[in-house]
Amino acid sequence: MPVDPAAPSLDAPPRPAAERPRRAFRIEATGEDDLHRARAGVIETAHGPIRTPTFVPLATKATVRTLLPAEVAELGFDIVLGNTFHLMLQPGHELIRHHGGLHRFMGWDGPIITDSGGFQVFSMGHGTVADEIKGRRGRKGQDAPAGSRSHARIESIEEEGVAFRSYVDGSRRFLSPETSMEVQAALGTDLAVVFDECTPFNVERDYTARSTERTHRWLERCLTWHERHAPGWQLVYGIVQGGVYDDLRREACQVVAASRCDAIAIGGSLGAHKDQMYEVVDWSTAELHRAAPDKPRHLLGIGDIDDLVRGVELGIDTFDCAMPTRIARHGMVLVPEPDRRWRVDLTQARWATSDEPLCDGCPCPACAHGFTRGYLHYLLRHRELTGMRLATQHNLAFVARTMAGLRRAIVDGRLAEEAAELRAGRLP
Ligand SMILES: [Zn+2]
Repeated sequence: MPVDPAAPSLDAPPRPAAERPRRAFRIEATGEDDLHRARAGVIETAHGPIRTPTFVPLATKATVRTLLPAEVAELGFDIVLGNTFHLMLQPGHELIRHHGGLHRFMGWDGPIITDSGGFQVFSMGHGTVADEIKGRRGRKGQDAPAGSRSHARIESIEEEGVAFRSYVDGSRRFLSPETSMEVQAALGTDLAVVFDECTPFNVERDYTARSTERTHRWLERCLTWHERHAPGWQLVYGIVQGGVYDDLRREACQVVAASRCDAIAIGGSLGAHKDQMYEVVDWSTAELHRAAPDKPRHLLGIGDIDDLVRGVELGIDTFDCAMPTRIARHGMVLVPEPDRRWRVDLTQARWATSDEPLCDGCPCPACAHGFTRGYLHYLLRHRELTGMRLATQHNLAFVARTMAGLRRAIVDGRLAEEAAELRAGRLP
């Protein structure tokens, strides 16, 4: 029975282990043969079920930009992601708690996951690590990383936590395992993520090893705080770090799998290119499949169409990524063209006279209007809000159908076939 999320009891004593939702994840079907790690399942939360595998759209600042909550749900999404770092700075988690928690504040009554703020805060300290980790430095469609804004800078990184200057008003702020969990408890989200040190790609193995060990100490502190203070229905994701090092990743998987977390996220540097990323994910899910087969697995910050297909094959249950919504606002829409990385830039001059549809055969609400690429080009070129809204709707619908198709294929025992068709450019 869902507990009222508006009233999380922050002063409660540690709750008995028996009250914790030990079996929050139900696996309904698994992939065939070589794809046996893939699974279709359901994560049960206080705000309803999440059908997996699935993609989690970003509601970074308490809104999926340009869309209403009901529209996001109608596209087929069960869950959205709020950003701990941004929301604690603006408008502030205490204000959101005053409004009854993040669900009530933003008008979304389905499940919400919040990240820990670790990625954003360490992006400040490591310069452009945010771009580097995702291998997308300088590419069109990237918003500035948090650390590049005026005022924002890291003051110190210590065992206790990270001190930094707010990009909002320059005030001195502090984020630690405990404060991250406290913010997420105040937001009242269904799924919280532990605070970790997000290490950049181009650091030495030795640094990565020490950083990963700190992440494990912080994991323990997060879980201890959560058990004493967080709402009983809030599930916790531990995070696997370890950079691009096979042994560090496997060891991190074992530590996190053996911890008291309810689910596991794979984070940090996944390498310099896609093949290396797939390798890191492969090591990780292989180890997790042995050590914690019944805990949901989340891949942080990954969402290209080919990455979603490969991730599902490797046994990832949920993904989040800024890509579909962010590129939409920059004028790019998803199309079933693998050679073009599944995207077309409608701001390019060649589309000005085009009477082609946005995406031929797409059943999404944006395409249903029958607008031409020429019209979309005009809207997006001039940053008209309607253009951004239509592109956002289309891109999220494209990703939602991709994930729904993969889920159906696992249930029907034809994942290999579905993956091959998507890779060949079939419209999802
Ligand atoms: Zn469409």
